[in-house]
Amino acid sequence: MKKISILGSTGSIGTQTLDTIAHHPDSYKVVALAAGSNVGLLVEQALAFRPSLVCLAERADAEAARLLLPAEIKVVYGEEGLIEAAAGGDADVVVTAIVGSRGLPATLAAIDAGRTIALANKETLVTAGHLVMERAARRGVAILPVDSEHSAIFQCLNGERRKDVKQITLTASGGSFRDRTRAELSGVTVAEALSHPNWSMGAKITIDSATMVNKGLEVIEARWLFDLTYDQIEVLIHPESIIHSYVEFTDHSVIAQLGVPDMRVPIQYALSYPERLATPTERLRLAEIGKLQFREMDYDRFPCLRLAFECGRMGLSAPTVFNAANEVAVERFLSGAITFLDIERVIETVIGQHTVSSVPDVESIVEIDAWARRAARSI
Ligand code: NAD
Ligand code: MG
Repeated sequence: MKKISILGSTGSIGTQTLDTIAHHPDSYKVVALAAGSNVGLLVEQALAFRPSLVCLAERADAEAARLLLPAEIKVVYGEEGLIEAAAGGDADVVVTAIVGSRGLPATLAAIDAGRTIALANKETLVTAGHLVMERAARRGVAILPVDSEHSAIFQCLNGERRKDVKQITLTASGGSFRDRTRAELSGVTVAEALSHPNWSMGAKITIDSATMVNKGLEVIEARWLFDLTYDQIEVLIHPESIIHSYVEFTDHSVIAQLGVPDMRVPIQYALSYPERLATPTERLRLAEIGKLQFREMDYDRFPCLRLAFECGRMGLSAPTVFNAANEVAVERFLSGAITFLDIERVIETVIGQHTVSSVPDVESIVEIDAWARRAARSI
């Protein structure tokens, strides 16, 4: 029986994680659930899965939840509460399914406490990949990818020697606007940007998919997870999202991982690894799909991806700034304050204003992240 803590349990990844767990009640026990402000759903989840602790972002929400939950479930809140959900108690695996670099302290706390990390919160690796990976190595903690592309690469690398890897290819569906030209992007609405052709996901990652920032974050995430150089990472448009990503080896043999697009498969693999368990996911029937398409990535059409590669290559504080500027730009787009194409302008402007420096510790990351957010808000 693996004990699981879920940070961000009411979101897209969080609810699908609980769905996965519900299918295997003999394999998993939920010990902690943390959410932002959705008291109703968090309480419902707690009553169904009976964790020993739940956490909400705000005190008032925690007090409301307290009244609705049995006394044996501890209710905590805020940053400290989130750290307790991540590192207190006796979880074997912590699923990090919060959005954004705000998930960093809790992820580090879980690593320090020796928990296996099922990592969905890619922004933590983008903003502080060196710190996260170094701490995990020091503590002997496994970071298992939940992101479908990284789960694919992880599965393709099973039993392989790292030195035999020539390069990896991350596939990209192309997002909500993949068939539009840049000129056709100027008037797009928030609702249009939020309708993704293949995946149903949280709002922030859906916008990131439309700007291709998501693939940029994934490139940086892959660099850290698999210890690759940026020259070893390629991106390919694959509209059907059936091949989730692949690895090419030095002998030019290619191993890919395929499946219907359903996040419950990579989520479950991160929980069950190294075992595999049944899922309710549909089986892949290639004869019914008939053909799969692939297109070269167009870096002029998706400049944010080029920018992500540039920031990744610069390293040091550049990925932190790229991520923080994007988080604010997406918030501002979702609230109607800026247009879709302004997202890339905001990121580019903030990076232009930044002098890259080293970020040796969490404090320096937090400082530069905060600076980039202020800069992105003032544009
Ligand atoms: P989401 O917006 O659906 O869910 C976010 C969760 O975080 C919610 O439960 C929310 O209540 C919680 N949260 C917000 N603020 C919080 C706070 N201060 N304290 C505690 N919890 C808080 O997001 P999502 O789509 O599930 O994405 C989660 C992460 O997983 C992101 O980093 C995303 O990039 C990554 N990811 C998502 C998918 C997907 O299919 N949705 C796929 C790959 C990777
Ligand atoms: Mg992905």
